Amino acid sequence: MSEQGQLLSSRSTQEEGLYLLVRPCDKCQAGPLEEISREESQIPGGIQDRVKARCNSCGQECVLAFTRASGGARAGQSELIDVAEWLELCHHFMDLAQTNPQEEQSHEQIVSARYCLNEALKFYPEESHLPPPSAFFGRLGDQRYKEHPAVFLKTKLLELRRRLGVLAGKGPEQSNSGKKRKWWRTE
Ligand SMILES: [Zn+2]
Repeated sequence: MSEQGQLLSSRSTQEEGLYLLVRPCDKCQAGPLEEISREESQIPGGIQDRVKARCNSCGQECVLAFTRASGGARAGQSELIDVAEWLELCHHFMDLAQTNPQEEQSHEQIVSARYCLNEALKFYPEESHLPPPSAFFGRLGDQRYKEHPAVFLKTKLLELRRRLGVLAGKGPEQSNSGKKRKWWRTE
């Protein structure tokens, strides 16, 4: 089992759960990591979470230590998940929504996708169409940005948010079932 010495700053336990989905495994570089157990302890100024997790690809176990402020989720930008990882999470939930046969769960995934997209958008300065270099602090750095810069254009993300908003607003009972086309693609 590998123990991370580094303390990771999180805003909520929910954010820690999302982090496990995008953090590559130390051993095989794949993942995702799955939470096995968690321990909460009080520390000066907040709470420390020690999360034991297992890699779904190779079975390697690790312990991650997070700190967060007590008294509910903190607002502002994430210090745990970077802009590229929030977009990855957004697409992860859109894929789940599309493959999920149960409409109620599919609706939940769309709401999650929209949440992750909004988190990604928090990194964009008001006047800028692209995120600043400081928004790529994750393990992959700005590799994805260099490979696919167009994916990060704010106009594209706002258009995606508009479409997700329409889908989320429909609710599970009214959304169109049986359609298998990828509704977030442009055609
Ligand atoms: Zn692994």
